[in-house]
Amino acid sequence: MTIFQRIIAREIPAEILHEDEKCVAIRDINPQAPVHVLVVPKEALVRIGEARDDHAALLGHLLLVAASVGGREAPGGFRIVINNGRDGGETVPHLHVHVLGGRPMGWPPG
Ligand code: 5GP
Repeated sequence: MTIFQRIIAREIPAEILHEDEKCVAIRDINPQAPVHVLVVPKEALVRIGEARDDHAALLGHLLLVAASVGGREAPGGFRIVINNGRDGGETVPHLHVHVLGGRPMGWPPG
């Protein structure tokens, strides 16, 4: 069971900003910006690189929730990030969409 499945099951605490039948949005425990929210599907899809065509509606939903949370939490603008695999910086093998904001974002990203 991943750490995010345990959060969804309420086995470990998290600040939950949004929940629906498909996903939750939680504050990151180690924020990299004043606003750092993770949008996590309840289905434990491992990573974006393993998504299939039948995940298209779920992936669209995650992006719409991420945009909604970002607009609310970071009205000055926000960045959406998905880390995939070792070089992509993925540390938790359960798909999650990062929403970062509350400060200007650098480009190119690190
Ligand atoms: P990744 O590096 O896989 O893209 O992102 C994993 C994210 O999950 C990291 O930003 C990390 O801080 C966050 N994270 C790891 N464990 C927990 C936890 O127990 N609770 C919360 N809220 N976030 C976590």
